[in-house]
Amino acid sequence: MKYSELKKSLKNHKLRITDCRMDVLEYFQEHTKAVSIKDLEDKFQEYDRVTLYRTLHSFEENGLLHKIPGDSGSAVYGLCKDCDVAAHHHNHMHFRCTSCGSTECIDTPVEIKAATLPDNYEMASIDVIVNGICNQCSSN
Ligand SMILES: [Zn+2]
Ligand SMILES: [Zn+2]
Ligand SMILES: [Zn+2]
Repeated sequence: MKYSELKKSLKNHKLRITDCRMDVLEYFQEHTKAVSIKDLEDKFQEYDRVTLYRTLHSFEENGLLHKIPGDSGSAVYGLCKDCDVAAHHHNHMHFRCTSCGSTECIDTPVEIKAATLPDNYEMASIDVIVNGICNQCSSN
């Protein structure tokens, strides 16, 4: 992705432009699979852990990334498509590969039926995680 587009994307999400933000955003754009803080730490040794955490946090707050619920351990993040500063709005599935352990956002339309909740419960979002074998693993 071009430098100017990364800048624009940060601006659209009301984020100040820093080297770290540019690098992290670019990394997310280049990866289809979800990214963990550990991946970022391995990749960007020039930034300390706190800076990377803050970057992820500000991206999540401002609608660039969303946290993907995992079973335990470290959280992974996926790139948002059209969320804005005000709110996240997506109902897509996440796919977790039981072979390589990667997680990714699945953007093909899925119909997620609204859950029937007891009275006085209000739904905000539904997280759907599908477990299976990803395309990379199944072609090996
Ligand atoms: Zn989002
Ligand atoms: Zn896999
Ligand atoms: Zn996602």
